[in-house]
Amino acid sequence: MIESLLIANRGEIARRIIRTARRLGIRTIAVHSDVDAQMPFVREADQAVCIGTAPARDSYLRQDRLLEAARETGAEAIHPGYGFLSENAEFAEAVVAAGLVWVGAPPAAIRAMGLKDAAKARMIAAGVPVTPGYLGEDQNPARLQAEADAIGYPVLIKAVAGGGGKGMRKVDDAGQFAEMLASCQREAAAAFGDDRVLIEKYILSPRHIEVQVFGDTHGQVVHLFERDCSLQRRHQKVIEEAPAPGMDAATREAICSAAVKAAQAVDYVGAGTIEFIADGSEGLRADRIWFMEMNTRLQVEHPVTEAITGQDLVEWQLRVASGEPLPKSQDELAINGWAMEARLYAENPATGFLPSTGPLDRLRFPRDARIDSGVEEGGAVTPYYDPMIAKIIVAAETRTAAAAKLSRACAAVEVWPVRTNAAFLARAAADPDFVAGRIDTGFIERHADRLIPSPEPSAAVLQAAAAAIVPPPANDPWSALSGFRANAPSARQVEVEVADKPYLVELEPLAPPASVSGGVLFLGGEAWRFGGRRADHAGGGASTGDGAILAPMPGRIVSVEVAQGATVAKGQRLLVLEAMKMEQALLAPFDGIVAELAAIAGAQVAEGSLLARIAPKDG
Ligand code: ADP
Ligand code: ADP
Ligand code: MG
Repeated sequence: MIESLLIANRGEIARRIIRTARRLGIRTIAVHSDVDAQMPFVREADQAVCIGTAPARDSYLRQDRLLEAARETGAEAIHPGYGFLSENAEFAEAVVAAGLVWVGAPPAAIRAMGLKDAAKARMIAAGVPVTPGYLGEDQNPARLQAEADAIGYPVLIKAVAGGGGKGMRKVDDAGQFAEMLASCQREAAAAFGDDRVLIEKYILSPRHIEVQVFGDTHGQVVHLFERDCSLQRRHQKVIEEAPAPGMDAATREAICSAAVKAAQAVDYVGAGTIEFIADGSEGLRADRIWFMEMNTRLQVEHPVTEAITGQDLVEWQLRVASGEPLPKSQDELAINGWAMEARLYAENPATGFLPSTGPLDRLRFPRDARIDSGVEEGGAVTPYYDPMIAKIIVAAETRTAAAAKLSRACAAVEVWPVRTNAAFLARAAADPDFVAGRIDTGFIERHADRLIPSPEPSAAVLQAAAAAIVPPPANDPWSALSGFRANAPSARQVEVEVADKPYLVELEPLAPPASVSGGVLFLGGEAWRFGGRRADHAGGGASTGDGAILAPMPGRIVSVEVAQGATVAKGQRLLVLEAMKMEQALLAPFDGIVAELAAIAGAQVAEGSLLARIAPKDG
């Protein structure tokens, strides 16, 4: 077994790896950027090395500095985690060339699966069913359009080098194709330095089903069953579970053995995931599940597989990298119970899921869930990296019980002043369609109305706020303990201010079970400032009433779509800003003219900087 390990990653994944390495007696070395110096993963490692400044390209993506840090600290192996350099074949080769152990996929397998078009061609050759589409070299827009027309709409344009939900556009009809292609290519060029695309038939009622596979250096490959990651927003996973609802034994056998075959076709070693897309319109059927891509790394959602199989996948990775055989054979692996994971993001569902950054003055999680988090109370969410605050993982005997537990766990999350999707997650996990297993990748968009909490406080929030500012009747011990107000005078009116607005509340005898701290009320995953204080977080609007278009967060201007003096209509796209790995369009707040235009394509902008000003037409 290796004795020391450098972790070329940060946050929750670095902590996750440290946890297992420590249990196995392996010395751990963290690397970090200057802004991450105070993060828990840096403290928890046996040793830490600062390798650069905040932007990932100046630190976590600096291969030379990572290798230098490994040399300086005498590390024997490097674990890349996920994201960053985990699927970079060149880095894997450099690690091996430096005489170190690479705790990841073999470089040749990373290469074979790295580009979606080449990977699919390879899978077709190996006899794995693949989504129908165009994988050709010819990238002429006219040719691409002709191929899309031939496949039949809707189609999906995908960057061949894409990943993480980026570089992907659904096109519903021929008329939209050219515009979607251009925007997909632009995003792909910026994110992956490669603007080539492929075109796929868009599968209707799509479900994302993936299979965890594992190979060792002795030629063995096993699977650890499937996960369902159909709950997505903009192609990014939000809630994952294992096993997949509605999967029968025969279908499971078919897709899991297809996954093993796919891994064997590239002589796979280590942890990998074969992602499939299923047409779920008539339940899961083996002849309606197609290979989509392989991720040659550990996956963000690996904990749900750990929960149902009782295995530690990071331990498997470290053993395999050390040359040991797989800890279990296929016969020794079985599914036990049901597990679900929700990704808690620093974002505000009420403002179109705008990312939210800032200090974490409060960060509390429920005790009866596994929490994989990279941050702690008193820390912060910075704009430089992934906006994920934590993964909330639960397991239970049945799917229904797991969903209820997940919803309760998300509802119990308390975060302030950073905004999160906790209430949204709690609602999604409790949604009757979700609980019934009626899920596909369009679920969130379709049910947005009932999943996204209102920007106004609910009656329950007002009740809880009112109850919190009225002192309980002194002679009633029960009320002090539980908020139960049986003896309270009836119809007490209370003036409360919630998120800056005054409300007159008729206090009812039973207040909802909210938690209160520092003038903030937490209920159902929502957080509200209340009392007489001003709320300082109205939630990142991109424009203000005077027509000034301000950068809602630090980012880079991707494109400017209007000229100075141009006439614009309310809702028209003015420019596109890229921040926290997402493109965000800034829109005209009202009809008018572009009176001022400060934004320049390609420029980095600071939060709050003036990008443009729209003036009303008559003024
Ligand atoms: P996965 O495919 O592993 O389920 P995603 O596709 O949602 O996860 O992840 C998007 C991309 O960002 C992937 O390349 C993933 O490895 C990376 N990523 C996601 N979360 C993190 C994180 N917390 N730290 C670093 N990289 C991450
Ligand atoms: P990434 O590399 O970004 O993970 P994938 O190719 O794995 O990209 O696709 C990500 C998501 O996009 C899938 O989980 C699914 O929601 C959707 N998707 C991908 N291909 C199709 C398809 N052919 N039809 C419908 N949805 C698809
Ligand atoms: Mg994928």
